[in-house]
Amino acid sequence: MWGFYNRLLAIDITQKCFDVNPISDELLHRTLGGKGLATHLLLQHNPPQVDPLGPDNHLILATGPVTGTAIWGSCRYGVFTKSPQTGYYSESYSGGTVAEYMTRTGYDAMMIEGASDKPVWMEVCEEGAFFHSAQDLWGLDSFTTEDRVKAWIKENRPDAENCGVVCIGPAGENLVAYAVIENDYWRSAGRTGVGAVMGSKKIKAIAFWGNKKKDSADPELAKGFAKELAKLAKDDKGVQAYKNMGTSMMVDIMSNVGSFPTHYWHKGQAGHKENINAAALHERLKVIPNACLKCFIACGRLSTVKEGRHKGLKIEGPEYETIYAFGGLCEVDSIEEIAYLNDICDRLGMDTITAGNLVAFTIEASRQGKIEFDIDYGQVDKIAGLLQDIAYRRGIGDTLARGIKAVAKAWDMEDQAIHVKGMEPAGYDPRVLKGMGLAYGTSDRGACHLRATFYKPELANMIDPDQIEGKAEMFTEWEDRLTIFDSLILCRFYRDLYQWEELATMIKGITGLEMDRERMRSIAGAITDNTRRFNIREGLSPEEDHLPKRFYTEALPETGKVIARGQMEQLLADYYSVRGWDEKGRPRDND
Ligand code: SF4
Repeated sequence: MWGFYNRLLAIDITQKCFDVNPISDELLHRTLGGKGLATHLLLQHNPPQVDPLGPDNHLILATGPVTGTAIWGSCRYGVFTKSPQTGYYSESYSGGTVAEYMTRTGYDAMMIEGASDKPVWMEVCEEGAFFHSAQDLWGLDSFTTEDRVKAWIKENRPDAENCGVVCIGPAGENLVAYAVIENDYWRSAGRTGVGAVMGSKKIKAIAFWGNKKKDSADPELAKGFAKELAKLAKDDKGVQAYKNMGTSMMVDIMSNVGSFPTHYWHKGQAGHKENINAAALHERLKVIPNACLKCFIACGRLSTVKEGRHKGLKIEGPEYETIYAFGGLCEVDSIEEIAYLNDICDRLGMDTITAGNLVAFTIEASRQGKIEFDIDYGQVDKIAGLLQDIAYRRGIGDTLARGIKAVAKAWDMEDQAIHVKGMEPAGYDPRVLKGMGLAYGTSDRGACHLRATFYKPELANMIDPDQIEGKAEMFTEWEDRLTIFDSLILCRFYRDLYQWEELATMIKGITGLEMDRERMRSIAGAITDNTRRFNIREGLSPEEDHLPKRFYTEALPETGKVIARGQMEQLLADYYSVRGWDEKGRPRDND
């Protein structure tokens, strides 16, 4: 089939061997690859109730049909498994350059089962997978690991013009439930603990190199489409905003509506906003816009600290979500210090959103005398020390490494913990943006902001943030369109440019398949049904679609807003109905 290799690389890491299995046209037609394909594979191969950190949990890395083509926003890969953080379906995506090298190996996906008895790193190329001892890499931070593996390929593989590397840091090795898989130093498959799954298999890194190329159905159509889009996007306000300010612009936008989570979700605005917003980042750090391959938006900020104790520190970021987690929730009041904490998490290989949430939760516990641990809001060095303790599972860090559900239980603070299904929300308070409540409640991977990015229509006045009635219809359409993004594996920030019509043109040019909105929605709906089936099989109950109690009962001081439990019940009931699920949120043929 055009746009695919029809090949799955199936790796048994226990035995250090692999097979190349065919993927049928029918399956690719039905799923469009990427998320759709990986979800099908997980349902088929993962035993129900499998231990996420056990050898039988499969770890899948996939590219999409658009990867390696001229389509803008297409240099991304996805990771799919069962999450050690939530115990449910796990998906996480990353940009940078590595997906380009992944697709050149000639596989649509690789699926890893088993666990090595000793640390290994893998080389994946057109000939398959090769296994190397990682004894000398185990314990290294993610940046050094990437450098070492790239240097090895350069020295030993003269046929490889270049390569891409994904790896884990110490947090992944030590099975921290929210460890990331990192690439290009600062890009990461950041949520749901995919790095811990890789660590449980004792895989420190994977290098990709090759020269394979997929054929497109109509390369001229795909190229013309990409060229036209770049022209059209030149004057697009959203593109310009991301290019000029990066995601850090969201600090002001969210603060203005009182939805910038601060002081562990007790406030919606930070008094020190001016020290941590986009203006502060661009003034106080030397910033160069940076892009993943095949991207004209360039939302990344290659930033270097100009003055002070971190002078010279270089990082891509900090992104909005990291600023909110450390600057808002933990009230760190300097953008340089947030960059410093960001750098620590990147080197250790840990999700900044969850890490920031857990540190703020620890501060609350300390203030309330629930634990004997001295830490308070804004105390950067203590926060930095705690991040290290988590990654190396020292003292209190060992409890925190297990994730919010375990921590809240251990400290008898379950009523205060902010999470859905064990994953903490991103920086959009659902008491203000009520559609984000529905997003956090129903996302297959816990409190996720990306599956529907519903903050966008709510902030852009496309729908009233307080509206409940009728919201689920619009929400479901956004979620469906972005599910197609995840099967093709496209960057979210192209969401305004790729509406249904553009997606249909792209799919026709790459795969030759004729699609319309209805057909794409039907594919997306089937994928969402499958992720739901996966979660139900793992024990999900409808009560777990609810938000943490505090969102229902504790008003934000600046706006007085809550989301009432009844409102959430209505949103959920409407969503189940639009999806065609029963009143308990089960896809119909699940009985
Ligand atoms: S918009 Fe940002 S995240 Fe998306 S492809 Fe471009 S640089 Fe990467």
